[in-house]
Amino acid sequence: MNNFDIAVIGSGIGGSLISALNTDKNLILFEKDSNLGGCGSTFKRKGNYYNSGATTFVGYEDNHPIKNIFDKANYIPDIQKSEIAIRVIQNKKAVDRVKDFDTFIDNMDKVYPHKNNRIFWNTIKTLDEKFWSLKKLHYAKYNLSSYLKTANAVVEILKVFRFDVFKSANSFINETLYGISDEYRAFIDSQLLITIQTTSKDIPLLSLALGLSYPFHDVFYVNNGMGSLFDGLLKDVNVHKNEQILKIKKEKDFYRIFSSKDEYKAKQVILNSSIFDSGSLFDDKKIKKYYNSFSFSDQSAFVINLTIDSEEDFLHHYQIILDKNLPNAISQSYFVSFSSKDDKKLSKNGYSVTISTHSNALFWKKLSSEEYKKQKAITENFIINDFLENFESLEKKDIIAIHSATSNTFKKYINRYNCGGKPITFKNILQTPSCRTPFNGLFNVGDTIFAGQGWPGVAIGVEVLNEEINA
Ligand SMILES: Cc1cc2nc3c(=O)[nH]c(=O)nc-3n(C[C@H](O)[C@H](O)[C@H](O)COP(=O)(O)OP(=O)(O)OC[C@H]3O[C@@H](n4cnc5c(N)ncnc54)[C@H](O)[C@@H]3O)c2cc1C
Repeated sequence: MNNFDIAVIGSGIGGSLISALNTDKNLILFEKDSNLGGCGSTFKRKGNYYNSGATTFVGYEDNHPIKNIFDKANYIPDIQKSEIAIRVIQNKKAVDRVKDFDTFIDNMDKVYPHKNNRIFWNTIKTLDEKFWSLKKLHYAKYNLSSYLKTANAVVEILKVFRFDVFKSANSFINETLYGISDEYRAFIDSQLLITIQTTSKDIPLLSLALGLSYPFHDVFYVNNGMGSLFDGLLKDVNVHKNEQILKIKKEKDFYRIFSSKDEYKAKQVILNSSIFDSGSLFDDKKIKKYYNSFSFSDQSAFVINLTIDSEEDFLHHYQIILDKNLPNAISQSYFVSFSSKDDKKLSKNGYSVTISTHSNALFWKKLSSEEYKKQKAITENFIINDFLENFESLEKKDIIAIHSATSNTFKKYINRYNCGGKPITFKNILQTPSCRTPFNGLFNVGDTIFAGQGWPGVAIGVEVLNEEINA
């Protein structure tokens, strides 16, 4: 009874998309939490619903892995387009990141004037378009056909991008936007931090282009919370919620899986746990050693969820950039998402607001419980005060519910301290974890594996994985 072809451990974006693509198999998906979706889940607290992390949905467009996978899963999401993807506010000046190129450049010229704005952003947009039209994108190791497909992908990338592949983001910025102001650089770096988890200092030009082009695509708001996408995607999947996988043992032709409730066998195992947490599931020394070979990425998120009583109209998303890093954070900006006024579930008792910034993953773990509470309050209060200064129509009394999450909270609910993968830089490009492991039948998926984080990054990785498991 408990024999499966594929066992997927975790219902994050990666685990859910790969399951939705393989409903024709004898597949089971385990999720430790009561909510599906991991960093993209929606949870309920004291009668109100909140998004736990992800709030923007990008990539639901023709010829994009996300739309392709949703179509194959026969699922049409309940979404609405955010006409202004993000309003970026720095020192009370605002730039709207809109899809229309000319309007965006007009906005930029007003707030961050530079003679070469058009040339810079046009190059960024063109590189991004070229990337999403690649046909052979693939990255996997430990198998001859995987290496061949990866080599083909490299050849295609070299043909399409030529010398731009070797160009660094920094040199492109310095050449094109010479004399760039600190404010303009902060505008670029703050957006990169949320899309590709790092700043422009040590990344290739191509990463810069992908990170900055996010709002040149349609950005969608998900009605009823980001988590609703997972309910839809997994409607035909055998899902075991509230069931944590504790140990996995490799046997000759299958894996024996021990959960908090039962024991299972599966020929193939797909781990949606992060690459840094997967080793703890095994006693096998070689498997442990493999996972321990990836150095930890000490980055996570600090998230504040609010319910706000207000009649005011808000955009879906804002990014506020400050002059220096926020307390206990590794970022000088924070991202604010408001629920849509007409969202019957999220806005039932007021706006559901998710505010997030980057913080170290291990910082919070080291603190005593008293110090933890104190530091959490410092960060929370700082952000809320700044938020109220930037949203002048709001007052403190309008906030009718508030709670914050640190990396400790992410560990408690979804079993990971770190959030997001290691950014792909010149130095580590070949160490990027592959979905295929050196162990037959054992795979990984999610934002710590190629191609990285967020819906688009994880979806590329899912397409690669799907080819690998069905090879
Ligand atoms: C604050 C924040 C804001 C973000 N905003 C956006 C955004 O606006 N748009 C966007 O596209 N991306 C955003 N991202 C990034 C995006 O959310 C993540 O990259 C993505 O959700 C990660 O997906 P994943 O497949 O790696 O799975 P994860 O989200 O890591 O989920 C893994 C799942 O596996 C489960 N699991 C782990 N171990 C076990 C086990 N042993 N047994 C059973 N279950 C297990 C966990 O409970 C979890 O549900 C944001 C991330 C954060 C943290």
